[in-house]
This record gives sequence, C-alpha cells and structure tokens, in this order.
Amino acid sequence: MEKVNILWFKKDLRIEDNEALFEASKRFKLLPIYIIEKDLWSQNSYSDRQWQFCKESLIDLNQDLKKLGQELVIRTGDVIETFEEISKSFKIMGIYSHQETGDYYTYKRDQKIRTWTIKHDIPWKEYLQFAVFRGKTNRDCWANNWKKHLNKKIPQIKLKLDPVNFRSGNIPDDDFFKFKEDKCLGRLKGGRKEGLLRLEIFLRRDIYLYRKNISNPDKSKDNCSRLSPYITWGCLSIREIYQKTNFKNDINSKMFKSRLAWHCHFIQKLESEPELEFKEFHSFFNNLRRKNDRFLKLWSEGKTGYPFLDACMRSLNHNGWLNFRMRAMLMSFASYNLWIPWQESGEILAKKFVDYEPGIHWCQCQMQSGTTSINTNRIYNPVKQGKDHDPEGEFIREWLPELKNIPTHFIHEPWLIIDYEEYKNLNNINYNNPIIDIKETSRSARKRLYKITQKEGYWDISKNIYKRHGSRKSIFRKRIKSKDQKNLNQLELNLEL
Ligand SMILES: Cc1cc2nc3c(=O)[nH]c(=O)nc-3n(C[C@H](O)[C@H](O)[C@H](O)COP(=O)(O)OP(=O)(O)OC[C@H]3O[C@@H](n4cnc5c(N)ncnc54)[C@H](O)[C@@H]3O)c2cc1C
Repeated sequence: MEKVNILWFKKDLRIEDNEALFEASKRFKLLPIYIIEKDLWSQNSYSDRQWQFCKESLIDLNQDLKKLGQELVIRTGDVIETFEEISKSFKIMGIYSHQETGDYYTYKRDQKIRTWTIKHDIPWKEYLQFAVFRGKTNRDCWANNWKKHLNKKIPQIKLKLDPVNFRSGNIPDDDFFKFKEDKCLGRLKGGRKEGLLRLEIFLRRDIYLYRKNISNPDKSKDNCSRLSPYITWGCLSIREIYQKTNFKNDINSKMFKSRLAWHCHFIQKLESEPELEFKEFHSFFNNLRRKNDRFLKLWSEGKTGYPFLDACMRSLNHNGWLNFRMRAMLMSFASYNLWIPWQESGEILAKKFVDYEPGIHWCQCQMQSGTTSINTNRIYNPVKQGKDHDPEGEFIREWLPELKNIPTHFIHEPWLIIDYEEYKNLNNINYNNPIIDIKETSRSARKRLYKITQKEGYWDISKNIYKRHGSRKSIFRKRIKSKDQKNLNQLELNLEL
C-alpha cells in the first residue's frame, strides 16, 4: 500500500504559515483533506453565513493547493469514518493538523480521534494555530509565551506536492445543511486572497483612524480591521498579521496589536476549561436568569424600542459583523435588562457572527453578563451609547428607516415626543415602544449581582478563577492583600500586553 500523511484541515484554511502542512510534507505523499461534519454544522451556533464564508475559503484553498500539485480532498460525514475510508487505500503514516480550541463538540470529537489513532498506532501530530497553549493550569508567564510565539520567524517554504490517486470529492449543495435562509448581503467574502487584500488596505490606509473610530458604529466598518472572520477560519495567521503590523510603533498599531493578544487570551480560557461554553465561570451565578422567548425574538430582530440598540442588531443581521462595543452592548442588554440566560442570547449572536470563535465568544458573553467575577461589570445604556457614538442619529436612520423623519433631538428617545402615540399614527410610524425600562432593569440587575457577591465563600471561588484565567504579567501571588481582595473583580481590567 502507498504510504501517505494526512493533512487534516480544520479552521486553518491556508497554506502559508501552516506548520502542520510544512511538517506533513517532509516525508511521504500528502493527502490534504477537509471534512464537512454535519453534526458540527447542525449545532445552534452555526449558520448559513458562516458556511458560505467557509465554502469560499475552501475554494480559494483548493486553488492554492492545486498550484502545488495536489488538490484538496473533500468529504462529508464523520471524521473517523473518513480516516477509515482512507486507510482502505493507503497506509496512513501520520495525521497532521492544528491544535483546535473549538467548541465542546470539537473538544469531545478530538478525544475520540485521539483514542482511534492510538488504537491504530497512527501518530497524530498537532501544531499551534494561535498562541493558545494546551495543558496549562494557570496563567503565569502566559503573556511572554504569547509574544515569543507571535515573534517567531515565519518560514518561507517552496512546496511541491506529488499527487495522490484518490477521489477528490465535492463541496455539498447548500441545502445539505438545512440552514434557514440567511442572505447576509453585507458580509465580507471568504478566502485568503480576500483576507490579504483587507489586511493590505487596513495597514496602508485604515489603521490610522483605528483608535478614533473603533467604537463608531459606522466608521468602524472601515477603521477596524474586520479581519476577524479571516482569523477565525484561518485564511490568515494571527502571526503574519502581527508581524506585518509590528514594524509600526504608533498608538494605533499598538492598540491593534493588543487586540490580537486579547484574541488568544480569551481562547486560552476555553482551552483551559471547555465547559465555559455553557457553564458559568463562577458557580454562584448558575441559573440566575429566566427564559423569555418573546424578549429574545424582539431583541434578535432589532425591535426592542431602543433605536440605537435596534440599529446595531439590524446592521449585524445584514453584515455579519459589528464592532466590539456594540457587541458588548447587545449582550449586556440581553443579560442585564432583559435578564435572559447568556447561553440563549449567546447562541443567537454566535449564529449572526461570521467570525464566530467559541473561545472569544462564550468568554465575552459571560464577561458582558457579569458571571466571571474577575471583570468589572458594565451595564451599557443604549441611549447614552447612541448619543455618544451616533449623536446625529445617522446610523439609526440608516438601519431603522421607520424613524428617518424623527427630529434629531428625539432620535435616541422618540417616546419623549409629546403625544407620541398620536405622532406615530399621524406619521405612519410602526416602531415598538421600549419593551423594558432601562433604568429600572439596570438597577435591579446591579442589586441582584451585588447580593450574590456578598454570599459566604464567593471570593474564595473568585480567587481561583483569577488564578486560572486572569491575565497578568507576573506570577500569581498566593496571598492577595485584603485591600485587593475587594477589587478582585477588577483584576483583569488591564489586558494590554
Ligand atoms: C459578546 C461578544 C462576542 C464576541 N464574539 C466574538 C467572536 O465570536 N469572534 C471574534 O473574533 N470576536 C468576538 N468578539 C470580540 C470582538 O468584538 C471582535 O473580535 C471584533 O469586533 C472583530 O472585529 P475586527 O476584526 O475589526 O477587530 P479589530 O479591532 O480590528 O481587532 C483585530 C483582531 O483582534 C481580536 N480582537 C479584537 N477585539 C477583541 C476582543 N474584545 N476580544 C477578543 N479578541 C479581540 C480579533 O481577532 C480581531 O479580529 C466578541 C465580543 C463580544 C462583546
């Protein structure tokens, strides 16, 4: 039987800066494969917009592989069954892949693969995709290791692959997944070429206003990098982005690089504790909130009656992307004001994000819901956010055409118009009144959370969470001074590396 190494592509859809590819191609012929797992894609956090991006990236990757001499093999189904199919035609000498910190499904799947490879005596070698490290029980020295990894020289490799004689297979039709129709007309196109283009434009032009416009709902579409889907699907490596930015020393570049560090910092949390996808960081916050399907639907459709918040949601529905502050505000509103479990609202947001990255996503969802105990709780007021970041209401008018004729003075709080119901009738405005009272619900949420922090044993658990997950430059101090203990929930404030 002919000997091959399998290169198992996961969310690392590129050939450059791909250590697994480099190592796998050193000996034996290479069989590069992407396996479309129906069970993975059937989960509630996956959607058509993500699949379309992934599909475009696969087509792009295939073009690049063909140029090297071997096209991408595509299979649909179970990973082990696919490896077994290969083993009927070839002697598998090794499986090479990136080390994935995905969701709980891929975590469990990889455990099964590990058992299978051991049983069949096939070495499975995994390489770092991000600066996220396996087997770490605490965060001591994490930041230094992150920097070391990101600064490591990227080898420039000239590869030539000998073709293997194996059916290449096809990408399945879109209706294979049974996704709901989801046009997402404003999303970026997938693939490495598109990602490189975006990176080039960002570093040459858009980065200079990064700091100024990072939270502007409209301008952030240009002045943020919007590289997140390319990073999530691995069209670009985080290291190449970092190194291309590294020669710059201005405030914008520094800030951008710190965000790249946050990327790995959050994924590291899920790597260390995969259950964080559904389980609260701090157990005292378990089962705190209540299901409310009506609120969830109105929130998801951008019909809460808070114009700025609804505009952000509708823009996300169209573009599949939103800047950080606006994401945080949407999550905060669902968790604090609507008091919905973060697991439910988080699933809805995950589906809408083309860049859905479980490690960042679930940890951010928890952070914006006050369940980590090591971050300051921030309850965003959508009226204030609107006035700060969209003072003239231009963004609101773009996404809520029903409000386009409301005078600017009232655009953030149309309900303040005298005889508002009559005004709406007269002007044919079909827009909800606020579904909750923002001040009242914020006050109540703050009180509920505070009460929990006063329970006996709360801080002891919190301290361990900080030890395991908190970002720090130095070694964890075993004895936290009593004055710091009070501020333990702010220890993770400074995430700059
Ligand atoms: C509730 C919530 C859910 C989120 N879910 C995701 C997600 O599923 N996938 C995702 O990539 N980001 C997520 N983020 C983080 C952040 O909002 C996005 O990374 C960012 O908006 C992407 O836009 P950008 O590429 O233009 O970022 P830029 O500002 O240009 O930053 C460059 C890169 O740094 C990383 N980054 C930036 N901000 C953060 C952050 N706050 N935390 C972690 N990494 C960051 C991303 O990889 C990003 O692409 C979430 C934030 C919140 C509040």
